[in-house]
Amino acid sequence: MTPARPLTALTFDLDDTLWDNGQVMVHTENGHYAWLDEALTTWHAPRLDTLGRFSERFPITAYQQRRGELAARHPLRRGDFTWIREQSLYELLTEYGLSNEESRRWATAAMDEFMTLRHRLTPYPEVESLLESLGADFRLAAVTNGNVDLTRLPLARHFPVRIAAGEMHAPKPDARPFLAALSRLMATPSQAMHVGDSWAEDVLPAQRLGMRVAWIDKRDEGLPSPLPGVHRLGHVRELPALLASLEEDGR
Ligand SMILES: [Mg+2]
Repeated sequence: MTPARPLTALTFDLDDTLWDNGQVMVHTENGHYAWLDEALTTWHAPRLDTLGRFSERFPITAYQQRRGELAARHPLRRGDFTWIREQSLYELLTEYGLSNEESRRWATAAMDEFMTLRHRLTPYPEVESLLESLGADFRLAAVTNGNVDLTRLPLARHFPVRIAAGEMHAPKPDARPFLAALSRLMATPSQAMHVGDSWAEDVLPAQRLGMRVAWIDKRDEGLPSPLPGVHRLGHVRELPALLASLEEDGR
């Protein structure tokens, strides 16, 4: 068997790979909508009798439904979650009775609040030192479908290459965000490993390109099927041990 080329680059998914994203999203989802409702109520108190309270006419489920409809109407932008959210808010606000200009302004303000809450996240405690030491041996990239702006987090300093796949309108499992990362890392697929928690969006597309993959099986589901070059980890903290064992085996 021909030995694989040594690894020179690592690409990382972010949400649920470097931090637990579930609670962050619940808090962010409810938080920015409640913020908008409160702020609107204060702002247009005199008109409240005519318009009614925003959240009563458009409960959060209406907002979620509108996002689904908008994503279906604009398939190319389905991965651009920030745009989908802001546009949904804009539509609901105009239907609520605000002018186009007021709706645009309030939708933007609500998304500012969304982004503030979205970035109140805590990476797993091991992540900072893990990236620090990996950065000495590998070139590192972040490849995310999510709308985290890495530059707002201290972790950004570890990632010279950052790919926001949703904003490039090619969310994973599209191959393009991986190829963009590899090209900027100056690595071939066989020189790189992708680390991520989603079987469909991280493991399969990276493996298909010929990258090696560390799958973070955070729900402890076990490998659905053995795939060459795919390694299962329970947590990202186990990555250095995997890399050391691959190096030892000359793989
Ligand atoms: Mg993820």
